[in-house]
Amino acid sequence: MHHNLIPLFSADTIATRVKALAQRIDRDYAQDPPVLVGILKGAFVFLADLVRCLDIPIAGIEFLSLSSYGSGTESSGQVTMHLGVSAAAVQGKPVIIVEDIIDTGLTTQMAIAYLQSLYPTSIALCALLDKPDRRQVPVTIDYLGMTIPDRFVVGYGIDFNQQYR
Ligand code: 5GP
Repeated sequence: MHHNLIPLFSADTIATRVKALAQRIDRDYAQDPPVLVGILKGAFVFLADLVRCLDIPIAGIEFLSLSSYGSGTESSGQVTMHLGVSAAAVQGKPVIIVEDIIDTGLTTQMAIAYLQSLYPTSIALCALLDKPDRRQVPVTIDYLGMTIPDRFVVGYGIDFNQQYR
């Protein structure tokens, strides 16, 4: 299967944005090491680059596996959890959720609700990309890479049917 792909951002642009996000997190969490919770699978490359840019100590790395997409390019509206986080890893600590793309907001909404049940001291949201056009629930993104139009994107860890990551 072959698709025509149009480059959206250069590797340099992404690296610069990731570095800027890491600097802001460094400043905001200098006194309070956060637990980073990456939303699998799409956030794994972004999360790896982000942690390499952080100077502050972190309290942990956790992964939450949620999927809202079936095999197409439209959000199914149903979010399924495949892998959770241990409560001990999160309880009493500030959490930063790390996501690839915020689209409808449903995945984020479920991640926040789930993590709240584990009693962190705070929850912030860091996302590489925001597609605000299709939002179904309001979401506040504390650390955002870039806003993009409602196009289906791939690469930098983000797939189409497991391809193009
Ligand atoms: P939401 O629940 O906000 O609608 O969707 C969030 C998730 O849907 C993202 O974490 C990502 O996995 C997936 N998603 C949203 N937009 C895109 C896109 O343009 N391309 C790909 N491959 N996945 C997307």
